[in-house]
Amino acid sequence: MPDIAEIDNRKIRLIIHLRQAGITNTDVLSAIERTPRDLFVPHHFETHAYEDQAVPIGLGQTISQPYIVATMTDVLQVEKSHSVLEIGTGSGYQAAVLSRLCRRVYTIERHRPLLELAEKRFNDLKLRNITSLAADGMKGWPSIPGNENSFDRIIVTASVDGDPPVALMAQLKPGGIMVIPVGSQAQNQMLRRYKKESEDVYAVQDLFPVRFVPLLPDVPRHNSYSSSDLEELTA
Ligand code: SAH
Repeated sequence: MPDIAEIDNRKIRLIIHLRQAGITNTDVLSAIERTPRDLFVPHHFETHAYEDQAVPIGLGQTISQPYIVATMTDVLQVEKSHSVLEIGTGSGYQAAVLSRLCRRVYTIERHRPLLELAEKRFNDLKLRNITSLAADGMKGWPSIPGNENSFDRIIVTASVDGDPPVALMAQLKPGGIMVIPVGSQAQNQMLRRYKKESEDVYAVQDLFPVRFVPLLPDVPRHNSYSSSDLEELTA
């Protein structure tokens, strides 16, 4: 296992790399610097945690490349007072980065074993402003009375084929921003930004090509995971 000084060196090199790659938002860079990505990847990937690449986290899912996390966070224009909804908790890394920049992060993951690991990380890091849920995020956040216009920002970290789920559009506050990868095949996706100008009126902007796993419906049953699936999550 690399020692703390070595991890710090790798982290500093990653920040320098992100700056050179065009990330200039110092709040975003500082949130990334304060979030130990080595704690969000399976043990045998720890030495690669600060390289600018996606890493498998088990159950066929990945933690996104740091450059994509930084860019998505940047284009979301998060403010300190904001409530942010994330669909696709995965490792919890994106939620942890966002939690340093806003009032509260609500995050939904359909794979309960992934969510439980992410929750342990939030707890270990004392990130108390993250509320998480194992559910189908296509349906939006379930327990807010009225359910409408609840979030200043929504970030979806899995791709949709077509329009974003209506429940998510409904839960975005007027003036709010949603970023979501749109496109059917992994090679053919665009990160799209929706700004809700008013009820049912959106300004839509295609930002840049991305590669995300698909947004899938429902929550798999616990007995659909084999013991080797579950071992892979932390191995
Ligand atoms: N943001 C994550 C990476 C996301 S990978 C991170 O920082 O590590 C995409 C995640 O979306 C996967 O974990 C996948 O299980 C989840 N997902 C796919 N469809 C979903 C849905 N309908 N609701 C909630 N999560 C979903």
